[in-house]
Amino acid sequence: MPALTYEQYCEHYARQCDNCKGKRRYKIDGNWTACPCQQKAALKFRFESIPIQPEELKRLTWKDFTGRVPKKGSVISGNAYQSARKTLLGYCFNSNDEKAILSNDFDVMQERRRLYSCVLDHLQDGQNLAIFGGSETGKSLLAMIVIKEVIYASLVFGRPNVSFRWTRGSELLHAVTWDGEGKTVDEAFMWDLVATDYLVIDDVYLERKGHSRAPDVVELDRLFSERMIRSRPTIIVGEPEIATCVLGNGGNDIMAKKNLRKTLIHSWGISFFKLLSDKKTTLLHLEKGKG
Ligand SMILES: [Zn+2]
Repeated sequence: MPALTYEQYCEHYARQCDNCKGKRRYKIDGNWTACPCQQKAALKFRFESIPIQPEELKRLTWKDFTGRVPKKGSVISGNAYQSARKTLLGYCFNSNDEKAILSNDFDVMQERRRLYSCVLDHLQDGQNLAIFGGSETGKSLLAMIVIKEVIYASLVFGRPNVSFRWTRGSELLHAVTWDGEGKTVDEAFMWDLVATDYLVIDDVYLERKGHSRAPDVVELDRLFSERMIRSRPTIIVGEPEIATCVLGNGGNDIMAKKNLRKTLIHSWGISFFKLLSDKKTTLLHLEKGKG
């Protein structure tokens, strides 16, 4: 939950603002105009409202994705770490030259975003991102890094209306499940997910764990195909078994792969599978291992 109310964020940002000096608006050619600090306040409020657990994930940045967990050491292989960083940089900046792009200085970083950021281009090209990995591999952190890039880019390019939503696989399945006791599909929620610019679906499991009733797969199909038609980027964060369904797993166990696919399509619908295997979807696999 946000630490402050929306109103308090607006006040807070205005108080620190040299432009409007607390007034929240200023005069241009004799006309009152909303001060840009109020757009920042709105973005900040929406960012703080993202329902992510643990909350601390929101404070983390590029430098915090190390492939390691305190006291546990490395949780993904060195190769997986290197390639994850490169892939994610490519998704956000169209370049994987880490030295040329990343900086710890916020103002330097904003200038580089102005030059290289391509996250808002994905609202036209519809590039999706699928991040797979086991627990504690940093996959939700990577999705959060992208959402923060979206927010910072919307400030740099003066597009404060870019929207984002963060939901969990279980929440989505609940929204499309009829419980037989009056709960039907949550249309308002689903419509919101269709329309939002960037959508993160965190914690996606191959099987619909904890859901005794079948979800309305038609609704899921509509969500994912609508988003693809509208070129709205979707970020899927899921367990590694899902990767096996869409990646060439190198093995010869074709039957096992087929069964996994069946399970995936049964739980999430065919459009979900199409989105994952689409050429417009960047796949990122955080393979466990040392080294
Ligand atoms: Zn201001």
